[in-house]
Amino acid sequence: MKQEKTQGELLKEKLFLKRENAGMLLSQEELDRADAFCEPYKEFLNQSKTEREATAYTISLLEQQGFVPFDPTHKYTAGDRVYYNNRGKALIFATMGKKPLSQGVKLLISHIDSPRLDLKPNPLYEELELGLFKTHYYGGIKKYQWGALPLALHGVICRKDGKKIQVSIGEDEGDPVFCVTDLLPHLGAEQMKRPLREGLKGEELNVLIGSRPFKDDKASEKVKLNLLRILNEKYGVVEADFLSAELTMVPAGPARDLGLDRSMIGSYGHDDRVCAYTSYAATVEVTAPEMTVVTVFADKEETGSNGNTGLNSDFVRYFIEDLAAPYGIPGRQVLSNSKCLSADVNCAVDPTFQDVNEKRNVAYLNQGVVITKYTGSGGKSGTNDASAEYLWEVRSILDQAGVIWQTGELGKVDFGGGGTVAKFVSYMNVDTVDLGVPVLSMHAPFEVVSKTDVYMTYRAFKAFIEA
Ligand code: MN
Ligand code: MN
Repeated sequence: MKQEKTQGELLKEKLFLKRENAGMLLSQEELDRADAFCEPYKEFLNQSKTEREATAYTISLLEQQGFVPFDPTHKYTAGDRVYYNNRGKALIFATMGKKPLSQGVKLLISHIDSPRLDLKPNPLYEELELGLFKTHYYGGIKKYQWGALPLALHGVICRKDGKKIQVSIGEDEGDPVFCVTDLLPHLGAEQMKRPLREGLKGEELNVLIGSRPFKDDKASEKVKLNLLRILNEKYGVVEADFLSAELTMVPAGPARDLGLDRSMIGSYGHDDRVCAYTSYAATVEVTAPEMTVVTVFADKEETGSNGNTGLNSDFVRYFIEDLAAPYGIPGRQVLSNSKCLSADVNCAVDPTFQDVNEKRNVAYLNQGVVITKYTGSGGKSGTNDASAEYLWEVRSILDQAGVIWQTGELGKVDFGGGGTVAKFVSYMNVDTVDLGVPVLSMHAPFEVVSKTDVYMTYRAFKAFIEA
């Protein structure tokens, strides 16, 4: 016999905040849709190991969807689709809405750079008849995680003659890979006494790239010589060309399904290509929005958003001004009426390291897209802190669209912290809040997300721009 619910149980149902697993809430059909949604996302990850590759690959997708290069002298009308490529490293794409720009735009802003090992300007050397690259890490990494791991070389070299060479070695099955070597445990006694942050020190992140000497009796540094010979034959470069290059080592290999149930994806660079891809997917599906939709892929977030392809630059502001100028609308009027989702990941609570999070205010894997009211550190230092009014607006949109969402803080109070582009968006007088996918092992060479969370993030972006 079915028991009636008690008054207390009914009241609790009515009053308490619920945390629910998307795997329970969604029908099998919806779960299948979430899984299917993630297949092209994995391809996006594989094609986008750097911000340059993410930009180029996204442009190739956008052009198939009718987006054309932005012309600041043109007066665009509803349904027009444009993109603006900022130096091949950051991207803005927009679909013009039916409402006038004076009422503002809907902004989705993610970042497409991820932590990695950049090559130094003079990287190549030979030591003990081995060829190596010196690196300078980019973004917040735990350096010890980058040893004894297959790495791929990506980037560009601007040769002395002005030709720009694209480099990608280590992703195809037949390609060689590279690695940072680590000490054998047998001789690691002293190393193991180091604090973990120095398990591998910055100047120990040297990448092994070759070992066979050039056959010659007289020349010295024959391994280095042989490596330069190979690079010269393949790309026409000489050692001085490294100075005008942006080369980087990233974990080699494709994104993989994770778990016996294939419910998750393990990959390099989910932070923040997962929000980039989901915002892209939502943007291209909305062909006739009410408000103009402006989607931004920013560079340099992992190093503080500085540089002209980062959000601390004025390139988004200039784009908005240019878009509105033919209508005689000042950019500041557009921006002051605009709404933004700062699309970035947050940490998911890890069963093995629960202590760093406060369990009532942390995101859980599979509980949907995470809204992060504020980031920062200490007493909310260095963060945008979204207003109650704006959070109500976003929450209403998600609830009406049936999106599964949760809130999350980045760790316990005073345990550390971090930031996103949200504060730079707020500098433009735009309402903004952080929203994105919860991630396990954030900033590691192999990060983990759940497929239902990825799908809910896409649904959140779509609901936001359709609202
Ligand atoms: Mn991020
Ligand atoms: Mn990050």
